[in-house]
Amino acid sequence: MQDMAASLSLAIALVLVCGCDTSETGDSTLMRQIDHHIVGGAGGNTGRLGDVLDPNNGGVQAQVALGDKALLDRAVAAAKAAQPAWAAVNPQRRARVMFEYKRLVEANMDELAQMLSAEHGKVIADAKGDIQRGLEVVEFCCGIPHVLKGEYTQGAGPGIDVYSMRQPLGIGVGITPFNFPAMIPLWMGAVATAVGNAFILKPSERDPSVPVRLAELFLEAGMPEGIFQVVHGDKEMVDAILDHPDIAAVSFVGSSDIAHYVYERGVRAGKRVQAMGGAKNHGIVMPDADLDQVVSDLTGAAFGSAGERCMALPVVVPVGEDTAQRLRDKLVPAIEALRVGVSTDPDAHYGPVVTQAHKEKVEGWIAKCADEGAELVVDGRGFTLQGHEKGFFVGPTLFDHVTPEMESYKEEIFGPVLQIVRAPDFETALELPSRHQYGNGVAIFTRNGHAAREFAARVNVGMVGINVPIPVPVAYHTFGGWKRSAFGDTNQHGMEGVKFWTKVKTVTARWPDGSPDGGNAFVIPTMG
Ligand code: NAD
Repeated sequence: MQDMAASLSLAIALVLVCGCDTSETGDSTLMRQIDHHIVGGAGGNTGRLGDVLDPNNGGVQAQVALGDKALLDRAVAAAKAAQPAWAAVNPQRRARVMFEYKRLVEANMDELAQMLSAEHGKVIADAKGDIQRGLEVVEFCCGIPHVLKGEYTQGAGPGIDVYSMRQPLGIGVGITPFNFPAMIPLWMGAVATAVGNAFILKPSERDPSVPVRLAELFLEAGMPEGIFQVVHGDKEMVDAILDHPDIAAVSFVGSSDIAHYVYERGVRAGKRVQAMGGAKNHGIVMPDADLDQVVSDLTGAAFGSAGERCMALPVVVPVGEDTAQRLRDKLVPAIEALRVGVSTDPDAHYGPVVTQAHKEKVEGWIAKCADEGAELVVDGRGFTLQGHEKGFFVGPTLFDHVTPEMESYKEEIFGPVLQIVRAPDFETALELPSRHQYGNGVAIFTRNGHAAREFAARVNVGMVGINVPIPVPVAYHTFGGWKRSAFGDTNQHGMEGVKFWTKVKTVTARWPDGSPDGGNAFVIPTMG
């Protein structure tokens, strides 16, 4: 552990880098480099570097080392060496590491939130929420001895007992998106390690600092080196992971096309894979809903984190023309009152999007939606913030009269854009999310218990909110969408997470009393 600790001081180091675009940082020579966090330290990677942008100001704020197969081999070798001993540690002791980890992350919350906000662009309070939701999975893992108890049947036959146990898979990998750089790595990494695996995280190369810090804190909490490592990289690293024969399982979260690719390639290589993809969540507003509450919920769920959440609500479906008009009349002033600011602005409702390329993509979708014939009610394009003119800001945008045939409705925009799709009745409203290619989350706003119950039972979507705009389940339940929002058949965290990261072994034991049992060894044994 000492060696690892020594190498950590280099993990986020200031190094001399020439030829970088530092025009926005105001420093011509010094550039922070974010390294891998593997046993024995980084080094020996491709030498390729990725730019980590500054969403508030534009430009490059750091560079991240992009690893290759050789670097992955080193991480896997370290994981392989460390995992058997970790799996042999009794579950209560592994849980104690989780307890200590929770304490440490809480003690470092401010630093982590600032780091996260600076690279992602979400406001500090939201960054703390990102970390807290991850910590709630750590809390679940504090109870891991209880959930690993297995099953036991005494007397399944004469002198026969049957019991099952959950054993770790060995080495697992998590590949995570930019939009929750703390929560999603902890969804995977906490459960994977608590049940006795070694875990390697390949976080998004766009905001890689927090994942490294989370790994450092695991070591500080007493986790042995080699059990939670971080390798950075892009497609080259992801492909090396998917093809690596010593990696048993891959948990992926990101956009759907890449999720599908990861799922197929990983499964073909014989791995257990779960791959969560994109989303286009709908909020159904029934005529009897409390519209003031709906508007408050909707503005938060559509525009919070600049719409860069897989559980955002970018589509609202008012039922009936009267509901649509009343909702729109209340929504417009609420949207116009939103404050967009730098991520450190405590009064800002949301900050910049993650990159200039993403800003252009979101603005491209706004243009497309208008071209497709929707009514552009509030236009967020061309938004600039004084003193931060090169920041990646997009103003809040509202469309009305969006229809299901429009490409801008079918695809995920992942920005601060809310689309109103009017529905004449409940059945039409129910069909919209049910038929959409994505099926991550959905919400219904109503005072009618029967309508809510009917909707929850029939809608073809994985996570449902009833008067809850962002129905992300608590850590001891499980998270997962349907259709193109998830490939594979197990969800994240809760018991589904435990199932994903373990395999079941069932033991049938016979302790006869010595008297002859007269059985015929050539016939399949039965309990009859
Ligand atoms: P992304 O798909 O671009 O990246 C996700 C991961 O894949 C990253 O680690 C990235 O390095 C890697 N990657 C990127 N391109 C690759 C390629 N060509 N081949 C192999 N790997 C590649 O996603 P993102 O932009 O970081 O995150 C936003 C997306 O994630 C949105 O679509 C959002 O809906 C989705 N998301 C889904 C959930 C969920 O649980 N369903 C949660 C959060 C985010």
